[in-house]
This record gives sequence, structure tokens and C-alpha cells, in this order.
Amino acid sequence: MNAHAIDEVCSFQEHSGALAAFWGDVGRNMGGNMRDIQVSEITETVARLSQEANYYLPEDVLDALKKARRDEEAPRAQKVLDMILLNSEIAAEKQIALCQDTGTTVLFLEIGQDVHLVGGDLTKALAEGVRLGYKEGFLRNSMVTQPFSARLNTGDNTPPIVHTDIVPGEALKITILPKGGGCENMSRLAILRPGDGKKGIIDFTLRTIEESGGNPCPPLIVGVGIGGTAEHVMHLAKKSLLRKVGEHNPDQEVADLEEELLELVNASGIGPQAWGGRSTALAVNIETHPTHITSLPVGVNLQCHSARQKTAVL
Ligand code: SF4
Repeated sequence: MNAHAIDEVCSFQEHSGALAAFWGDVGRNMGGNMRDIQVSEITETVARLSQEANYYLPEDVLDALKKARRDEEAPRAQKVLDMILLNSEIAAEKQIALCQDTGTTVLFLEIGQDVHLVGGDLTKALAEGVRLGYKEGFLRNSMVTQPFSARLNTGDNTPPIVHTDIVPGEALKITILPKGGGCENMSRLAILRPGDGKKGIIDFTLRTIEESGGNPCPPLIVGVGIGGTAEHVMHLAKKSLLRKVGEHNPDQEVADLEEELLELVNASGIGPQAWGGRSTALAVNIETHPTHITSLPVGVNLQCHSARQKTAVL
């Protein structure tokens, strides 16, 4: 790009910023409900959430692990569950990472359509939050550059993976999900034939879990997406992991499939860390989406027992 073209791009970007500020003012002057949120506040929030998510397991996950321990009959499985629970106590008390694998930072943003982000670039603000959170929280940096060759550590666990939804309102909800490599590596996608139906979904999900064995560090939360397109079904599977353990899909037919799959997964005998037993999964969460007449996409995303996530609303 020549110097003249670069000047034009810079000038356009400056004008874009000025235009955004202008339309924000217009919205306010017309009595609109635009609410300013400084991106510096987003950076501080992401830094805080990075640390809290890595130190403290959510209450619903802890409760489910304790219930699994009460229900578990296999001695080795009981021992593993005891260790997992003790580990979570130590991490919380000493504010140290629940697991050495502090994960890829996955961020889910719900941005109110009446929110006006000011003071800088949102993408940079999010990455800065991760950088600060991981550095100051002494959390391992797990991200590498060019995945098929150099694979140099980026040195600050950036960049995060960011998903955004635009929603009604004037709030910004940020959820952080540090996703471990061991469980993420066991993700699978299948585009089934429509005629494969429910049986095809069950067979594929069970095969994925059985082939994964101890790699995803069970007890698991099993995220399943059904429908949409190839990329959307994997997004659904990941997003389903945000649901609290014990909450079912509001569609009764889907909730019944969650229950059925959970029973089958726990009958597999894999058990905690694949030491045998019935506590292979704490929950199966399914999200669905309408799909094409020729398709039945299914995505499976496994969450390990270090099921870390934390949310803040600005
Ligand atoms: S899969 Fe989860 S528990 Fe296992 S090493 Fe990775 S983060 Fe830790």
C-alpha cells in the first residue's frame, strides 16, 4: 500500500471514530438510551475474571462433584474425586491455579444494542485484560503462534477467542471460559444424515466419549450441539457448557435426551480420570438450532472436571 493510500485509511479510521462519537451524541441528544462503557473497564473486568475463573470452581460444579462422590461406589473413583475436591479447596484458599493447564481464554460477550463502547478498541481491550490477568495471577501462558510451524509461545496467553451476541438492552455481559487443551482436543463434528435421527446422535456422542477415555479428564460436562451448520453446531456445543450443571434445556424433548445420554455415558464405566466407576459425566447439555432439509449436524465439546467459568455484567 503506498503512503497516500495509508494516509487515506488512517484518515478514514479517524473519521470513523469521530462519526461513532457523533452518532453516540446524536442518540443521547434525541433522548435515546445509548450507554457509554469505557473499554478500560472491560480490560479490568477481564483481568479479574481470568484470575477468579482459574482459582475458584463454580458452586454448581462443586455441588455436582460432591454429589458424584456421594453416589460413587468404586474405591479408586472415590479417591480421584476426593483429590479433585481437595485440589479445588487448596486452589481457592491459596489463590493458585486449579490446573496447570490454564487453557485457551474463550470469551462470550453479550453486548446490549444500546451500549456505546468508548475509549479504545474492544478487541485490544479484551486481549489486554487477558494479558494482565494471566501475568499478575501467575497463570501459565498456553497460546502459541503459527500452529503448524513456529509454535512460539505468545508469552501472555493472548489472543483470546471471542464470541459476541448483540442483545436488547444497555448492559454488557462478559463470560470467561478458560478451556483446557486435553478436553478441547477431544471435540468432534459429524454431519449425519437426517434419517440417522436420535440414535445417530446418541451413537456419535457415546463413541466420542469412549474414544476419548481419560484424555479430557473426566468427570465431564458433555456439550452437544445439534442442527444449524458445520461451524454453528460447534459453537452451540461450546456455548452449552455455559449452562449451570443440573439445569436442563427448556424443551422437554431435548431435556429427555440430555437425561438419556447422561445415563448412557455414566454406564460406560470410564469413571473419574478413566479409573473406572460411574462418575464419567456430571451433565450433558444440549443446544439445538433449525437446520437444512438435507442435514443433521452434531457437535460434541467436552469440558473437563476443571470446569472453570466466571461472568460479570457491566
Ligand atoms: S483437560 Fe482440564 S483438568 Fe485436564 S489438564 Fe486440561 S485443564 Fe487440566
